[in-house]
Amino acid sequence: MRQKFVVGNWKMNTTTAEAKYLAKAIVDGVRIEDSLSIVICPPYPYLALVGEILKDSSVILGAQNLFPASEGAFTGEVSPTMLLDLGCKYVLLGHSERRNELRETDAFINKKVLVAIAAGLNVILCVGETLSERNAMQTEIVLDRQLLHGLAGLSSIALSRLSIAYEPVWAIGGLGHHATPEQAQETQAIIRHRIGKMFGEQSAQALRIYYGGSVNPENAGAFLSREGIDGVLVGTDSLNADQFLAIVQVGIRVSQTQED
Ligand code: PEP
Repeated sequence: MRQKFVVGNWKMNTTTAEAKYLAKAIVDGVRIEDSLSIVICPPYPYLALVGEILKDSSVILGAQNLFPASEGAFTGEVSPTMLLDLGCKYVLLGHSERRNELRETDAFINKKVLVAIAAGLNVILCVGETLSERNAMQTEIVLDRQLLHGLAGLSSIALSRLSIAYEPVWAIGGLGHHATPEQAQETQAIIRHRIGKMFGEQSAQALRIYYGGSVNPENAGAFLSREGIDGVLVGTDSLNADQFLAIVQVGIRVSQTQED
């Protein structure tokens, strides 16, 4: 069975003191659990600090982005090598805020995916449609495009370092407009089907697919217990240790139930 994941994306939030407090609270609230993986993705400036706090815990360090080169004249950018050096094991790529606010294209995201995986990082590729695309019944077309272009040139062996986060753009922001668990499950099946066509059925079945978009302790269980949804990506509620830990507890309960 694929292991469940709870991933926290802190986005451009926290100060040094807040990052320290949040990371410590999460570490203190988590026992070494084989049944669930927890990843937190702080902003770049706090990766070293948070990495130090996570060092002897089961909580895994992730980053929110990278630049697709190992070093060089790329002012202001951060390489996969630097992330590995800081202890990162995961990186989020293709988040809708970067696609929309920073105009990142599928081609650019594809370069990042290839470079990150080649460097030895695990990639969480975010995909998802806008509300107007969903209303225009374009969800499948959008996802197909993001996956086809975003994963171009990837080998099926490299796929073991990839997971996909389905994050409908209209559900992001902790405003209560989350997708229904049915919608998340249906879309997960579309993604798995596309991956099957690209990399074969075995790879599609092994791939972890998460849901992200206004996940909170009240709705997390409904997503995590759906067949095919292997985790949740949490933005807003990852900034509150109690909320985040409550989601982790839900994840542990769902994992234990499914193991029984
Ligand atoms: C996100 O942006 O990755 C996200 C899931 O945010 P939120 O939980 O706030 O909707």
